[in-house]
Amino acid sequence: MFDTVLIADWSAATRKPVNESKDAIWLGVARAGLSVEQVYCRSRLEAEHWLNTFFDAERAAGRRVLAGFDFPFGYPKGFAAQLTGKDDPFAVWRWLSERITDDERGRNNRFAVASEMNRAFPGNGPFWGKPNEEAWPDIPYRKAGIAYNLVPERRKTDLVAKAASSCFQLFFNPTVGSQILMGLPTLERLRERHHAKVWPFQEIGRAHLVFAEVWPGLIEGAVKQAAANDEANDIRDKTQVRLLSQALSALDETALSSLFTAPTSDAKEEAWILGAGCGQLLDLRARLAITEVKKTLAPPPLRNDCFALPAGVDWTPVDVALEHLRQNLTAVTAVELVSLAESLGRVLAEDVFAARSNPPQANTAVDGYGFAGPAEDGPQVMPLTEGRAAAGLAYEGEVAAGRAIRILTGAALPPGVDTVILEEDVSREGAEIAFHGPLKKGANTRKAGEDAVAGDLILSKGRVITPADLALASATGLSELPVRQLLRVGVLSTGDELVEPGEPAVAGQIYDANRPMLLGVLTQMGFVAVDLGKAPDDRAALRACLDHSATRVDVILTSGGASAGDEDHMSALLRESGAMQQWRIALKPGRPLALGLWQGVPVFGLPGNPVAAMVCTLIFARPAMGLMAGASWALPQGFDLPAAFQKRKKPGRREYLRARVRDGKVEVFKSEGSGRVSSLSWAEGLVELADGAATIQPGDPVRFIPYASFGL
Ligand code: AMP
Ligand code: MG
Repeated sequence: MFDTVLIADWSAATRKPVNESKDAIWLGVARAGLSVEQVYCRSRLEAEHWLNTFFDAERAAGRRVLAGFDFPFGYPKGFAAQLTGKDDPFAVWRWLSERITDDERGRNNRFAVASEMNRAFPGNGPFWGKPNEEAWPDIPYRKAGIAYNLVPERRKTDLVAKAASSCFQLFFNPTVGSQILMGLPTLERLRERHHAKVWPFQEIGRAHLVFAEVWPGLIEGAVKQAAANDEANDIRDKTQVRLLSQALSALDETALSSLFTAPTSDAKEEAWILGAGCGQLLDLRARLAITEVKKTLAPPPLRNDCFALPAGVDWTPVDVALEHLRQNLTAVTAVELVSLAESLGRVLAEDVFAARSNPPQANTAVDGYGFAGPAEDGPQVMPLTEGRAAAGLAYEGEVAAGRAIRILTGAALPPGVDTVILEEDVSREGAEIAFHGPLKKGANTRKAGEDAVAGDLILSKGRVITPADLALASATGLSELPVRQLLRVGVLSTGDELVEPGEPAVAGQIYDANRPMLLGVLTQMGFVAVDLGKAPDDRAALRACLDHSATRVDVILTSGGASAGDEDHMSALLRESGAMQQWRIALKPGRPLALGLWQGVPVFGLPGNPVAAMVCTLIFARPAMGLMAGASWALPQGFDLPAAFQKRKKPGRREYLRARVRDGKVEVFKSEGSGRVSSLSWAEGLVELADGAATIQPGDPVRFIPYASFGL
């Protein structure tokens, strides 16, 4: 859309020193996501001169320019008409440019002009704040006592962007009010001279130069991050214009054009901050700009003691172990911005807000005839206005009172229409319709924003994006989402007895069951499953294998060798590495788990028995991997159903039985043996028996958790 992005950080101050300083005017230029330069201007006249030369040069080079200025382009609704007699924001621009004076030293008459504006409004204000309590009697020193009823104190966009400043505050930080007075006259001259289009007051079409209001507050996270990096010495204003120009110029065409959707009709007078409502995407872009080469944001590593269970507990209850994981694990995957289509199934990395209201304007929910409601009780006859309103095709004219217009489902309500009667309830005769009232005002219509309002939180961080989420994001004007990169999980089998499928097996050898199973589980859960092969019961070989694996994946699942026996090399090695924990969990089926970090990569040492390996993966590894993938903590959803079995259970351990539902009752596998691979295949889920003792009779309710609840 644009070849060049320029961002201006404006100032109402007097002339600044020769050396770069803050609170001056800073201009940032970027092309294709890369910063070109930041320019320091000592005065507004100097900046205007620079901008004139710059716009001329860009024009000569055939480049389209987006120029963003960080002060409001308009005042709250009603202001323009009160001051100039017209609800046209450009009337205010002209009004100011005819009055404001400024010179090379930055001396200006803004308080005198503000006094004149205050006199055009009844009562105190709306402008307030001045350097000297005695001077300019028409300007209150403080805000107290100003009633903002004729014009609101803040614009819609300030509310959506959560900007604290008011355009009526002239003094004491933030002095946005003064910046407008000292900015709009400059913009008026620039737009005249360069034939710029001003968004959202004008259609931007293919304009070679577009002015838009911007606000660095939308990229505050990035600015803070830049300051925390080695750029602490840089001037904040300079950092802001650099990051904002880079971020905007890095947006792809769809993302950028979604910022240019006019959010409310009031914006035609009040203006709108570019990106207000989807500021977090802009902030993320800006943070990516800090690390231009690394296109993603990497999270901090896990703490070395993240698997250290509190000492002194012999058999840790399942819930205690889970709570420990929940408290100590954080996302390990980087954040990236991807298109909606690519975001399906990915974990959302930040809260996401609607960029546009849905529906964006009031429209009809049915095919029929629209008019100004309500309709009285009894028979009604209405003449038809010529033409029709259809979805995507705005009706240009206004529908006069007492008339109706043909309108089709999804069409925006034309001016003069707020109520629609179903075509089935109408008889049409030539250019007239007849129907029976009454009909309530607003009948059969959908209100603007009834589904979502621009700025609403629509999707929360940690959510896995569903097809319905894509519909919501698209409908509310988003084209990209910040998501986590997929968690890469490696699977390693250990044991001298294992052979690969297809290889001949001699006596004493078994085919590897865990690895294909775990790789399948991970794939279905939405992780990237990486086959790390198998390692023999040999410490040096296993060490080499772990070393290599740690460079390839984010998490390692191993099976076998996790207990404390002679051949349990996995637990021995992890203990050697210093970050190993033997987890003895009060769980059946389950053997001790070995948890630790191998060169910073979390390792889940699962038991070798396939049933125990599966249960431990579903119950412990799954929520833990979810957190590491950036998702919210998620426990599987279970259902209470009558048992089709009988069982007496001792207290002290939680138990999971392989189960399935037939005829509405829960059956369990005939044997509880932990090596019974066939039982896992037979089952369609697990039955969860609580930690305490229980005697279960047929018909008693038990908690069944389908495999699907684990994402399988
Ligand atoms: P371990 O935890 O190494 O003591 O192994 C416990 C049991 O699980 C032993 O009977 C192993 O042979 C068996 N086992 C270990 N790994 C696998 C595997 N990948 N596939 C099938 N069985 C296994
Ligand atoms: Mg073994």
